[in-house]
Amino acid sequence: MRILIVDDSVDDRRLLEAILGNAGYKDVIGAASAREAFKVLGLTGPVDGLVLPDLVLMDIMMPDMNGIEALNIIRATESFRDLPVIMVTAMDQSDTLQAAFNAGAVDYITKPYNRTELLARVRSSLRLKHEMDQRKTREQELVSMTVRLEQVIHTLQGLSTMDGLTGISNRRHFDEILDREWRRAARDGKPLSFMMADIDFFKPYNDAYGHQAGDECLRRVAKSLAGCMRRAGDWVARYGGEEFAILVSDTDRPGLLAVAEALRKTVEGLGIEHLSAPGKVVSISLGAAQMIPKPGSSPPMLVAAADRALYKAKQAGRNRVCFAEDGAA
Ligand code: GH3
Ligand code: MG
Ligand code: MG
Repeated sequence: MRILIVDDSVDDRRLLEAILGNAGYKDVIGAASAREAFKVLGLTGPVDGLVLPDLVLMDIMMPDMNGIEALNIIRATESFRDLPVIMVTAMDQSDTLQAAFNAGAVDYITKPYNRTELLARVRSSLRLKHEMDQRKTREQELVSMTVRLEQVIHTLQGLSTMDGLTGISNRRHFDEILDREWRRAARDGKPLSFMMADIDFFKPYNDAYGHQAGDECLRRVAKSLAGCMRRAGDWVARYGGEEFAILVSDTDRPGLLAVAEALRKTVEGLGIEHLSAPGKVVSISLGAAQMIPKPGSSPPMLVAAADRALYKAKQAGRNRVCFAEDGAA
């Protein structure tokens, strides 16, 4: 703990140094004026190997600049807002002390020094400084821990397989499964079935019932689609805003169309009111495609074929299923 004594009187500085030294405070430095103190604190320019004090004992009565003016200047520097400064005064005058406290002094002692009183005040000011330093360190640790935690959450979200709104698989997860199933179908020489479903007139739904109702509608549609997935290899995911991707395992064209029709009916059967849609309830359109993986073909081609079929279903009036002829097995 370093203590800085600012006093124009050499004798007073020596006396203070002796009292503090005897009490075990060995790191005591002196300044003969406010100007010298500013130098010690690095306020007048960079100082090599600067070690800042933990406590300042500041004489009020000094030529050139008095202790209160000096304290005002020290306090104006952000890093010295918490530096404890004890004022040293020869006269116990309350108006001078008031000015000292206004300037941010933490305590005062009067000359001639009472050794016990002096040491008690020094000790309590140093303890306060120590506690404030510890609190600052803890706050900094907390800030850096929060930053690290945010990074972890960010990473986990990136690794997440679940769509936050609907609770079903997200697109990232679906793409992995599509790749896996594509390779399996390639090995077995079997067709892979894929569908893209899209809620009809969903923008007008949001416009009429609000975004929160839109979110709730998405949740209900997702849940009902997921409820239709019967076999282990069947998979549904939220692919985009109001688009769902569906994988159907090991089925032929009639089987795929039957699943598609079941999905369409299930959503229609939810009976979610949508007065600006022709059927007055929320519906989905589906595009279905099948492909036997061959050299030169890839999962994105299957997805694109289903997308084209979905477009046809929309063009044909919505709330229906279309099969991608170009993507047929
Ligand atoms: P179409 O029948 O041709 O599919 O028309 P549409 O209105 O459903 O299609 P469009 O692509 O014009 O609009 C999709 C809407 O879906 C727009 C967007 O505000 C809404 N949407 C997308 N994601 C979300 C979501 O997470 N929550 C809600 N509430 N709305 C969403
Ligand atoms: Mg839509
Ligand atoms: Mg869409």
